[in-house]
Amino acid sequence: MEADHPLRYRLPVVPAPAADERLSSWLARLAALYGVTVGGLLEHFGIGERPSSSDFIGDLEWRLGAGEAAAIAAATGQSLDALRAMTFAELRPRARGLVARRGRRICPACADNPAIKRKSEALPWVFWCPRHGARMRPLHGPALADRFCGEALARLDPFAQRGAARLGAWASEEEDGDASATPSLVSLLDFLTASYRRPSPPKLVEIPGATFRERRFHEALSRLVPRQTLPVVVPEYDRAAPVFAKAVAPGLSALARGSLLQTYALAVGLGRLSDAPVAEAVKALAASDAEGEARLCGILRSWPAPLRRRIESERRKRAPPRAVGLALHWCRGSERDDVWRRLATDLVAENAERLAGLGAEAKIGALMRLAEARKHAPVSKTPVQSH
Ligand SMILES: [Zn+2]
Repeated sequence: MEADHPLRYRLPVVPAPAADERLSSWLARLAALYGVTVGGLLEHFGIGERPSSSDFIGDLEWRLGAGEAAAIAAATGQSLDALRAMTFAELRPRARGLVARRGRRICPACADNPAIKRKSEALPWVFWCPRHGARMRPLHGPALADRFCGEALARLDPFAQRGAARLGAWASEEEDGDASATPSLVSLLDFLTASYRRPSPPKLVEIPGATFRERRFHEALSRLVPRQTLPVVVPEYDRAAPVFAKAVAPGLSALARGSLLQTYALAVGLGRLSDAPVAEAVKALAASDAEGEARLCGILRSWPAPLRRRIESERRKRAPPRAVGLALHWCRGSERDDVWRRLATDLVAENAERLAGLGAEAKIGALMRLAEARKHAPVSKTPVQSH
């Protein structure tokens, strides 16, 4: 250490890190106390190749090296453990990209001291302040309580808590439960952010508060709205989010880039999918168009096989009955032949044992009865199970 610069000495006054405070926030407070920039402070600690780069300061929160920690500890008298506690070192590398460089949400009680930036404000899966238990609000724009009525929030919160707990556990590498029974968190996020239908112009009901002229104007613009699965799993979000700000980024990026409203909806969706994966998947598949159905089925292939079988069987039960008689009645000519040929082929294949050995007349009679019974049998679309 050179003795010609006062900051090379142990600093005489060092504010204690606040609970849950980020390293960048504490360094900023420390620098302000001595009238220097954070880059300048780091330079005087003898660390940082590019001390003025804000990226470098942010990077210290991910990977505070032993040498850097020792230099800060020597100058400030803080323990290495206290310094590490201010970083995000406990998160798995894939989760670190989800942490906001600058917090985008805040606890109303913590907001009394705006100079202190907390780690929990930077994590997209934290919706309640760990210190006060208060609901976080976005730095800009309406609070969740302004988006949803109290009743809706009371209904959504338990799912959000469940989804947030899963996200937190995944980020700390404590997840992902029993992989043979539970879809992975990443595949659930892929499912929620996938499009189940082609983009389409907004429906009139999606532009609440707009005058008739404005609605017509929006319609005339024919601006297409992406149709993602999230609003199907969380219809409350569909109603609460502004129509053109409803879309979220795909997969994990949805958490990294999403607003408080969007990440809250994603956590609710994760909670609902974790609780009832079969029912939610069947609901989304039923609402999908052919392209979307194929896309969702592709994602479902990564889900555990027992779940896929249950989804397939539920879809068969819920699908509209194939009214064979009616179809034959309304079909004409070659169409009618085609319908009968497909049905008969199916029935012969499915009932090979029962039909074997029957004479021609008995076989036709049996086929007719089977076809009649099929009137109330379900139809399946794209199978969920991989072949
Ligand atoms: Zn707080």
